[in-house]
Amino acid sequence: MSWVSRKCLACEHVQKTFNDKNEEYQKVTVCPKCNGAFVDRYRYELYAKKDKPNSLLTIELEDETSVPKVFYKGEEIKHKCNVFLDWDTDTDTFGGLTYSIEHIDTGKGYPAINRIERKVKGHAFD
Ligand SMILES: [Zn+2]
Repeated sequence: MSWVSRKCLACEHVQKTFNDKNEEYQKVTVCPKCNGAFVDRYRYELYAKKDKPNSLLTIELEDETSVPKVFYKGEEIKHKCNVFLDWDTDTDTFGGLTYSIEHIDTGKGYPAINRIERKVKGHAFD
């Protein structure tokens, strides 16, 4: 028998949960208060980082043949078909930024292609 101290990623509720010998240990269970992700406190930082909402755009690429993982405003973009990021500078000042993520939206009846696109500074006048 063992006790696992857990913390919720959503509401930060903390509780010790009992882990029976016959039960398989799980890193993440369901928060009894809000049904959020109830994470082993030893691993909390690991999960909390992935959920970090204060990054505008995170692109993770494991290797050259893998599908990039894209998090936009903390939410993972699924069903991507095109990911584009162009950032440049010609002097010591920031030149411009363009990013676009095309993804298939399967939520509303028939699938449609959605695009998140932004052009910033120099690129906005291209
Ligand atoms: Zn909770």
